[in-house]
Amino acid sequence: MYNPKSLKAEEFISDEEIRETLAYADANKDNIELIDQILAKAKECKGLTHREASVLLACEMPDKIQEMYELAAEIKKEFYGNRIVLFAPLYLSNYCINGCVYCPYHKKNTHIARKKLTQEEIVKEVTALQDMGHKRLAIEAGEDPENNPIEYILESIKTIYSIKHKNGAIRRVNVNIAATTVENYRKLKEAGIGTYILFQETYHKKSYEELHPKGPKHNYAYHTEAMDRAMEGGIDDVGLGVLFGLELYRYEFAGLLMHAEHLEAVHGVGPHTISVPRIKHADDIDPTVFDNSISDDIFAKICALIRIAVPYTGMIISTRESQAVREKVLPLGVSQISGASKTSVGGYDTPETEDEVTSAQFDVSDQRTLDEIVRWLMEMGDIPSFCTACYRAGRTGDRFMSLCKSKQILNCCHPNALMTLMEYLQDYASPKTKEIGMKLIEKELDNIPSEKVRRIAEEHLRDIENGQRDFR
Ligand code: SAM
Repeated sequence: MYNPKSLKAEEFISDEEIRETLAYADANKDNIELIDQILAKAKECKGLTHREASVLLACEMPDKIQEMYELAAEIKKEFYGNRIVLFAPLYLSNYCINGCVYCPYHKKNTHIARKKLTQEEIVKEVTALQDMGHKRLAIEAGEDPENNPIEYILESIKTIYSIKHKNGAIRRVNVNIAATTVENYRKLKEAGIGTYILFQETYHKKSYEELHPKGPKHNYAYHTEAMDRAMEGGIDDVGLGVLFGLELYRYEFAGLLMHAEHLEAVHGVGPHTISVPRIKHADDIDPTVFDNSISDDIFAKICALIRIAVPYTGMIISTRESQAVREKVLPLGVSQISGASKTSVGGYDTPETEDEVTSAQFDVSDQRTLDEIVRWLMEMGDIPSFCTACYRAGRTGDRFMSLCKSKQILNCCHPNALMTLMEYLQDYASPKTKEIGMKLIEKELDNIPSEKVRRIAEEHLRDIENGQRDFR
């Protein structure tokens, strides 16, 4: 039988096993007894195998789907509470030597504006993000060993962490760059990155090779083994993702969960996050040519089932999704969202004008300001959080997982979320947002289970109101 521990990721996530999984799921999609058994297992909050979760994904019975949604919402509440962590992507360079057919950064695209930020421009760009209130960034770059070598990425990370801002520094830099070597992952770890994020794009090897016809990214095994090398290099927070729309979603879903199983079995810690990007319109790319795009309902079902299948893994939704879709999926298990994002290189400090040749990667659906996002989250009863405490306290990898598994988020992340929200309200919020936020903090203090922790949080919140910063 398939052993996630004894096989390499690429061998474990095999076409044969995924096809068998889909056949098993099809054969059991109306098997109420089995579905109830799987749901009962899911209620124990210890996760599901890729086969079990695939049965739930195949099931089309409305009452069972409703049960899945309710369970996902319960699990989210239990492990993550109602806090939502905010971040912004920062595009460093769109030079790329790959040929990804869905991405406008592909080498042959001659009408996109190619840009690479200098260190001075990075300072301006990050300052613009800090002026909005961001504390957590995800840096993005195309793959180009000449224009964007690892030294450039490392220097940029150093620059970002060193920027002094009147309201405090950037506290966590996550990195989304192409698959690289163990040695380079070690350097990224030493540079103090948070999560290393790499989307698999598709787990369907044949499609993968067709969608990535040129460049180093063409190598499916090298790409699929990247997280193993990252972990070997000492990075214990890794973020998985599939670009939904390239291949059949049920295939991708099974592959994604198998990848998580593999990491947990081999490295003792599953993915820190899973992202669920969907293909978007972009310069010279028409997403309608990818005929595997998924409806909003299927998208919501996938989000709910990821929450059920891997309860300890954070889930990220970007501004690729509209406000309406984000509202639909937030309660189903999302723990992080981006806000006020720009996908152009240099777009925060110098927004592109309409008549300019774009350097953007794809169109952003949710175009609201960070203040609007913060207010919207609070109006839905969520706590916008700028917290990076786990990372700064060295609580990464399995140490974060055990915090999550032991359901200590309410005693730890919840007060930290309130403190970082208070900082945002004091330093950035519009009067209306501030008014809503102050009431929310008051109310949410009561949800901290430990009286001792609550008293400390109250004290810190008073200190922040009086001008102190950065308790977390
Ligand atoms: N160059 C790195 C790599 O190859 O992994 C960094 C990735 S890129 C800046 C970030 C992600 O954007 C890609 O992994 C891909 O999933 C996604 N992406 C590319 N084109 C897209 C499109 N048209 N719509 C939505 N997402 C897209």
